[in-house]
Amino acid sequence: MTPTLAPAVPLTAADRCDRCGATAYVRVVLQGGGELLFCSHHARKHLDAVRPIAARIDDESARLDAVNAPPPPE
Ligand SMILES: [Zn+2]
Repeated sequence: MTPTLAPAVPLTAADRCDRCGATAYVRVVLQGGGELLFCSHHARKHLDAVRPIAARIDDESARLDAVNAPPPPE
């Protein structure tokens, strides 16, 4: 069982990376309240740094592959 604080709300295209403004795919809910949004690029860059202070990390980067991945070559 993974403890959850609240039902996870899926990220939408309106959610933007706090660093660069790209579509966010990772949401970090901070233990002290508040949240950070990262694109997959900045998630990779910052996730290790915020992990110790994160209450929950919602990683929807798998969705990125589903949406933006080019069709597999025949
Ligand atoms: Zn970014």
